[in-house]
Amino acid sequence: MNSEIELDKLINLINNNNKFAIFTHESPDGDAIGSSLALYMGLKELKKEVDIITDEYPDCFNFLKERDKIISKGKKDYDVCIALDCATEKRLYDPTKAFYKSIHTISIDHHASNTFYAECNYVEDKSPATCKTLVRIFKKLNIAITKEIGEAIMMGIITDSGGFRYDTVDDETFEIAAEMLDVGVNISNIYRNTFDKQTKSQFELSKIATSRLKFINEDRIAITYITLEDIKKTNAKTGDHEGIVNIGRKVEGVLVSIFLRETEKNIYKISLRSNSDDINVSEIAEAFDGGGHSKAAGCIINGSLEKAINDLIKETNKKI
Ligand code: 5GP
Ligand code: MN
Repeated sequence: MNSEIELDKLINLINNNNKFAIFTHESPDGDAIGSSLALYMGLKELKKEVDIITDEYPDCFNFLKERDKIISKGKKDYDVCIALDCATEKRLYDPTKAFYKSIHTISIDHHASNTFYAECNYVEDKSPATCKTLVRIFKKLNIAITKEIGEAIMMGIITDSGGFRYDTVDDETFEIAAEMLDVGVNISNIYRNTFDKQTKSQFELSKIATSRLKFINEDRIAITYITLEDIKKTNAKTGDHEGIVNIGRKVEGVLVSIFLRETEKNIYKISLRSNSDDINVSEIAEAFDGGGHSKAAGCIINGSLEKAINDLIKETNKKI
């Protein structure tokens, strides 16, 4: 697919319509919320009517402007529905199915596994974050990047690149960071709100996960889990599990870190991280009908904890 043609199509769809709704993937992360709020503010600059519809998100994103505009259900018919940071229809959070009732649909994303489910699909699979991709679109639309838009964009770039750590970060990412500093974005404030601050429950949950961490296959796989009981015991809220998958990832020799989180009885949300250029964890996730990026991926597994762990280890061993 020629992405320049898709980009022109996208620009025309935005310029020629009025009623927009913004959607993203379920359990939104920093890039999902950052890109949704940035696009909301950008479309408002263009005097459009806009709704933002998302699933529950962690309180740590509440420092961003316009977060109070987020609603949990699509309210009406829209001219254009835009899905951000969402690779597949299955992952899209849309309880009223408004996305497919709209006249036009757009997907703006950076997942190589994007299935091109919208009418217009603008996917930059080398981009570290959907938020970075949005900057290019904003320039084409002549949207001025204000300090508030810049904060939302930087939050997405910082969280999805692990704080400029991952190899998706390129020279343009730093150029954009410099542009955001120029409009007044406080980068250390974004770090403080995301990576450098924990709720007490998050700390307690990490303690449990750390104590359960196992090393397998000569320490090349690190695996841990939390259960519904742990979540209840620590009074954990949405997002309090963030960062747990990185505990094992940091240990020397570990190639793949795996984290299982029970979301409903016997339903586990899996996070996978790779430390190796030769191990693409999205392929492991795909074996369980999930997906993601080569170094960070996820899936959902139903069944007992023991079986989920065994199946994940078996599939990971095939790639090592
Ligand atoms: P996390 O482990 O932070 O939840 O997700 C890491 C990455 O994996 C996300 O950026 C997303 O691309 C992908 N991912 C997570 N869960 C799923 C899933 O259930 N299905 C698919 N297709 N991708 C997922
Ligand atoms: Mn993303």
